[in-house]
Amino acid sequence: MIDIRELQKEIREFVQERDWEPYHTPKNLAIALSVEVSELLEIFQWMSEAEQAALPDNEKLMAEIKDEFADSMIYLLRFADVLDLDVDQAIKAKIAKNHAKYPVETARGTFVKYSKQLQKRNPPEKAEPEKRE
Ligand SMILES: [Mg+2]
Repeated sequence: MIDIRELQKEIREFVQERDWEPYHTPKNLAIALSVEVSELLEIFQWMSEAEQAALPDNEKLMAEIKDEFADSMIYLLRFADVLDLDVDQAIKAKIAKNHAKYPVETARGTFVKYSKQLQKRNPPEKAEPEKRE
């Protein structure tokens, strides 16, 4: 089991040893996170379905993916640390919201956006025909 607080402590110490704390503002960390996620995305740019299916056998690409994944996670954990966000609580609360937002009966097997699923669940009432006087 991953100990998130232990990872955050290790990252914090890495930052403190280098006097990088002044640079680790929430805005800078959010930007850095976005850049790292983009680097992860770049690996997949123009990748065919066949190339994706063969990824587990591609050691070089898997190493790149692992590095960018780790870079992203490090910034995400650092962001939470700087803002004193309770990672465990935040994720569990969001999962609970997602359960309510995407009930299995309407969300199973579809990636239709939440707002469209809502329309399916609660179709707009038909307008009353205008009365003629
Ligand atoms: Mg990177």
